[in-house]
Amino acid sequence: MSNQNPIFIPGPTNIPEALRKAVDMPTIDHRSPLFAEILGPALCGVKKVLKSEQAEVIVFPATGTGGWEAAISNALSPGDKVLATRNGMFSHRWIDMCRRHGLDVIVIPREWGEGIPADRIEEILAADGSHRIRAVLATHNETATGVRSDIAAVRRAIDAAMHPAMLFVDGVSSIGSMDFRMDEWGVDIAVTGSQKGFMLPPGLAILGISPKAMQAMSEAGLPRTYFDIRDMAAAYAAGGFPYTPPVGLLNGLRSATEMLLAEGLENVFERHHRIAEGIRRAVGAWGLQLCAMRPELYSDTVSAIRVPDGFDANRLVAHALNAYGVSFGTGLGELAGKAFRIGHLGSLTETMALSGIAAAEMVMADLGLPVRLGSGVAAAQEHYLCGGTGNSRQKAA
Ligand SMILES: *Cc1c(COP(=O)(O)O)cnc(C)c1O
Repeated sequence: MSNQNPIFIPGPTNIPEALRKAVDMPTIDHRSPLFAEILGPALCGVKKVLKSEQAEVIVFPATGTGGWEAAISNALSPGDKVLATRNGMFSHRWIDMCRRHGLDVIVIPREWGEGIPADRIEEILAADGSHRIRAVLATHNETATGVRSDIAAVRRAIDAAMHPAMLFVDGVSSIGSMDFRMDEWGVDIAVTGSQKGFMLPPGLAILGISPKAMQAMSEAGLPRTYFDIRDMAAAYAAGGFPYTPPVGLLNGLRSATEMLLAEGLENVFERHHRIAEGIRRAVGAWGLQLCAMRPELYSDTVSAIRVPDGFDANRLVAHALNAYGVSFGTGLGELAGKAFRIGHLGSLTETMALSGIAAAEMVMADLGLPVRLGSGVAAAQEHYLCGGTGNSRQKAA
């Protein structure tokens, strides 16, 4: 099927035409100086998106999951204690990975729909007088539940406990779409991928590493070869890569960072917030509830929406694709069948968002849910109106 509809899954996201072209390039010799002209600006661009002066940016041919593995295997040793909150499928999977690597994970279990409890982190760290906990793992935006946690508060908790633990943040569905301040928040390792806020095809794991985390790498005892950041950093210093790089994707990354910075990061975040708020108003007009429990937890990149008891949310997702050629996200883990997700990150305008809201209404009406056609669209339109100010909202990456 040739389908021009935008997709509304929370990654991979819609690819702007300019980025599709940037990725599609003829082969170059990656051992020639031509490669450094692509890699250098891509790394610099990511650093700016991370709002970091001091991070070392490292990119692997992988996805976000590979980024998790690179983070833990480069900075930790077998048996190391780490502290992590589980509040959805993605935080759960990172914890599972840590355990499979022989790490000793202290889990803070939270209801799905809740955020990271900074006060609990402070208590647990304060009680760890011998500083056995090496790292705190935090999922900035839980893509399964549409919950954004407060990473600045996690940093304050670590500092208040006067604990030396490193802070590793999964920013896969936040970086490039919602405010992220690597230096200000004292993030030691930030992880993301190419296929969400960077609007590229999947294939890159992107990491920012603080000087403290770079230092931890010399003592870290977990095995790593393909994901060894020391090899990668040494190769970058010489303008190269330790193995064959995904040149097209890196060229795309250079263009993606240029595109985000040209729009202005704050404008990008504001656009995401405005689009997300319109979608939330539509959800309210439909009489449905978000999984996220409180407004301060609402994610600007994905909304997980609970369906009425007894209704299978997977039917909604399947019918949207079959009948209207529109993709929404399914509920994951505990939320399977109970919720569907609207991804609203990356290359998206208000007008595109309205089409997704309209399609969701048709699907719900087809399946007999009590939704009035146009109710969500109208609620979002009210929010998206320019009010004759002439402020153009056409522009989106
Ligand atoms: C998408 C995502 C990941 C990584 O998934 P990959 O499929 O490996 O790219 C990790 N964490 C979060 C929060 C995500 O949204």
